[in-house]
Amino acid sequence: MSAAWRPATAEARSPAGTSRILLLIAGGGNRQQIERELAQRFTVVHPEGDALPADGFDLAIADGPGLRRWNHALREAKAAAQPVFLPLMLLLPRTDLRDRRRGLSDLLDDFITTPIDRTEFMERVQILLRARQQALEQRDELVRLVNFDRATGLPNRHLFTDRVQAAMRSADTRGAGLFVAVIHVPLAHVLESVGELAVEEAAMTCSAHLCDLAGENVDLARLRMDQWGVRLFDGGRMEAVFELCARIDRLADCGIEAGGETVYLAPRIGVASYPADADSAAGLIDAAIAAAGRARGGEPAFYTMEQCAAALHYLRTEAGLREAFADGQFELWLQPKVPLQAAGPPSAEALIRWRLPSGAMVPPGDFIPVAETSGLIRDITRWVIATAFDLVARTGRDRGQRLHLALNITPVDVQQPGLSEWLRGLCREHDVAPGQIEFELTETMVCDMDEPTLESLHALRAAGFGIAIDDFGTGYSSLGYLHRLPANTLKIDRRFIDKIPGDSGGATVTRAIIDLAQAFNLQTVAEGVEDAEQIEYLRAAGVDYGQGFHIARPMPETDFRAWLARARANGAHPPT
Ligand code: C2E
Ligand code: MG
Ligand code: MG
Repeated sequence: MSAAWRPATAEARSPAGTSRILLLIAGGGNRQQIERELAQRFTVVHPEGDALPADGFDLAIADGPGLRRWNHALREAKAAAQPVFLPLMLLLPRTDLRDRRRGLSDLLDDFITTPIDRTEFMERVQILLRARQQALEQRDELVRLVNFDRATGLPNRHLFTDRVQAAMRSADTRGAGLFVAVIHVPLAHVLESVGELAVEEAAMTCSAHLCDLAGENVDLARLRMDQWGVRLFDGGRMEAVFELCARIDRLADCGIEAGGETVYLAPRIGVASYPADADSAAGLIDAAIAAAGRARGGEPAFYTMEQCAAALHYLRTEAGLREAFADGQFELWLQPKVPLQAAGPPSAEALIRWRLPSGAMVPPGDFIPVAETSGLIRDITRWVIATAFDLVARTGRDRGQRLHLALNITPVDVQQPGLSEWLRGLCREHDVAPGQIEFELTETMVCDMDEPTLESLHALRAAGFGIAIDDFGTGYSSLGYLHRLPANTLKIDRRFIDKIPGDSGGATVTRAIIDLAQAFNLQTVAEGVEDAEQIEYLRAAGVDYGQGFHIARPMPETDFRAWLARARANGAHPPT
């Protein structure tokens, strides 16, 4: 032990065991003893290369050379810590007392002379740390007052706005959407009847219920006496909004105690979306508040009319789809595909139809997207596949050849565990060869496909099923990507077929797709063939199959059988 280090006479008590003390002691015999002593109660940290420690510190202790070396950095650290106190203590020989403090007194909070009296030193360290601790606690209290609701402890409007702002930035980077929902609970009625104190009591119970109902991963805030806010950035999925609103709506069933009475309060939920409804966080919250004012009867109200219409359409379609399953309202229609080069087996694309009890038909473009978002598509696809196998099995042979059917599926279906086994089982059960069934996925779907889904698609192809890329030419699949796909067919999008033979651009793209298909050894199908001229053009260009209104419209199974019989009787397949 160095002579300069005098043993302690009293036990120092640490105000905070985890305080970090930065040592900037360049030399002298004191350094090791100081460090050892401090390390028993605190975390001792040192500069990291040319910088002060990145994780910060609560007290810096420097000697003269240390202070000169780190003067600038310490000044910056203290300024950055404002308004919180960040103390600095200087160690200096008694003889240097006047000299060394000159010009630095504004930076120093305390100094101690060497040789050091250990007890005095530790006491001074404690005092500085306590002052720092108090400053930190005051800062935390201030932050709490500014950002949190006093009664419920939830984030308040100020913090909620900051968080919405941050979520908007993150949504921008990810190119995704964001929803903000505001929940209005009619506490004003409670206020009229039982007074302000009881309202706060009721608000606390409401908050607790809302936290439970919203679930763990939802960011809930109290915006005003009777308003709560929820931020949702689940990729801007409408489905997530409805799920949440349905859960929040159950608040209406929760009894809330207020002034000795039990009241039941039905929430009103307003939703605004970014970027459609506002470009600032405050604007987005205001939009949701405005929407909440219009909400009625348990359904959320959306800020814009289009959102309102889209939300209503979604809600009704989803409910309708569930009913459609129970009541057997789906039909599988068939649109013939005819070979343009050599004779081929009878082929068709199966297209789902939804017939409402009123007799009206809902086009697939209206309900397939809702089914995809809600997850109901899995049930729809199972129904389509099962119905299609049954139909193929019942159709028998046409001049020795059996019906080939193309079915539309989505990546969600491909991800279903056990799909390949189920399909092979169906093949055996119905005596259908896998090659008779082709699965169509749109180009946009396959472009976004992840590796496991791609692997499942390969498994289907390996089992002998056909894979077609639907609406080809509209997505952005690169040649490299096409090469990795297990497809055997390209269906040229009808937007290009529409333009031939007149439009040279459409013809050029069609020609390029045909060349591409041939280079990759893929079959080509032209969809949307609407006149004889197009057929001739496509036939001459080497396209394998044609499909479109000119050949036949999609039709129910009985009509399709009649169509097949007519084609056979005419001795023409294709009947063009
Ligand atoms: P898609 O697979 O590209 O089907 C072709 C669509 O083009 C069908 O519309 C068909 O009626 C229409 N079409 C056929 N020929 C012509 C033509 O010459 N001119 C014009 N203008 N249109 C023609 P549909 O039946 O309304 O189906 C629309 C989309 O809905 C389908 O596009 C497909 O993506 C989806 N879809 C249909 N059925 C199912 C299904 O069972 N499952 C899934 N997942 N999606 C389906
Ligand atoms: Mg299709
Ligand atoms: Mg298509």
